[in-house]
Amino acid sequence: MSLFVEKYGGTSVADAERINAVADNVAKSHQQGHQMVVVLSAMSGETNRLLALADQIHPDADAREVDMLVSTGEQVTIALLAMALHHRGIDARSYTGGQVNILTDNVYGKARIVDIDAQRIRTDLEQNRVVVVAGFQGVDNEGNITTLGRGGSDTTAVALAAALSADECKIYTDVDGVYTCDPRIEPNARRLDKITFEEMLELASSGAKVLQTRSVEFAGKYRVPLRVLSSFAPDQGTLITFEENSSMEQPLISGIAYSKDEAKLTIVGVPDEPGVASKILEPISAAHINIDMIVQNVGDDGTTDFTFTVPRADFETSRNILESIAKSLLAKEVRADINMAKVSVVGVGMRSHAGVATTMFKALAQEGINIILISTSEIKISVVIDDKYLELAIRSLHKAFQLDESGNDITGKKQQ
Ligand code: ASP
Ligand code: MG
Repeated sequence: MSLFVEKYGGTSVADAERINAVADNVAKSHQQGHQMVVVLSAMSGETNRLLALADQIHPDADAREVDMLVSTGEQVTIALLAMALHHRGIDARSYTGGQVNILTDNVYGKARIVDIDAQRIRTDLEQNRVVVVAGFQGVDNEGNITTLGRGGSDTTAVALAAALSADECKIYTDVDGVYTCDPRIEPNARRLDKITFEEMLELASSGAKVLQTRSVEFAGKYRVPLRVLSSFAPDQGTLITFEENSSMEQPLISGIAYSKDEAKLTIVGVPDEPGVASKILEPISAAHINIDMIVQNVGDDGTTDFTFTVPRADFETSRNILESIAKSLLAKEVRADINMAKVSVVGVGMRSHAGVATTMFKALAQEGINIILISTSEIKISVVIDDKYLELAIRSLHKAFQLDESGNDITGKKQQ
């Protein structure tokens, strides 16, 4: 007998028919003798609908009330699923985040879980009940409802799995696993049977939408075995593991992620002296804008060009801030470009191989794609390019690293 936490996303609970299908799936595992905790999202589109409603009432609605509003979406689906399970003769109870003591800080809209008291859930499980929990929500220590950020039901599920020491946390979604890249862009994309937790973290934070980044961080911290699979065609999906294969079997690159949400700002001709970088970036971070890549280049006239990227939504604000810094630093000018995209190749295999960057840059060069910015980590290389070349870049990299076949080496050829 195992304890499973299963999370079903919005498209998996989009209507009564889908909720019945989820109930069938849960009932099957329960009848096999497993203890089941189910975490649900709101019906697909519902959170957006609620946010749009709030926007019609107040353009800058109070964050506490927004969380009160958007948390209702998940209450609808959990109650319906409990009913569907009852209909199948299974004892089940639905709970809000507060009812099962998912305690968070009080940062509305992006609250962090600080504690979970799993006792209530355990008591139900011991009585052979299926426990159905609303994803995405918690309460702060004053009992206010909070939400965990978009896609936050993934984090609820992983956190519950950690608190309950579940045997596995299964994330059911509308894709059947983690792919080498977005199959809508590259039809030869291949589903991965396994991926390491570190790779998953890099992919998620580089734009792969399959799991909320924070849920992956949580899984890493508490070593929760995670699996991503489809509720439409259940199969073994992709397992996120904590073991790395030996470097011989390890493919060089496991996947490619991308983000279209990039904008680039450059302040040209600032004095090359200590303190300049912090003078430029301080006001940007004070405005709660997340900076991604940073590049600084010293010219031979003793000045430097300072470039960084921000999310597109923060482009105008960042540009305005930078214009005023430029004046005070006597910089030559500010250059800004909102049509940027980032492509990242990720793989633990690159830790033990040189030359991955060369393969990547060559592939892009062969397509005439200009690289604007580069950044690297131990297991990731990211480039920023003009967004009109994004799909071409992804397809050429998928090919260069032979990701549609299993196993590759530095030259992109299959290992013998
Ligand atoms: N319903 C929330 C959202 O749409 C949470 C989730 O689906 O994970 O972001
Ligand atoms: Mg979702």
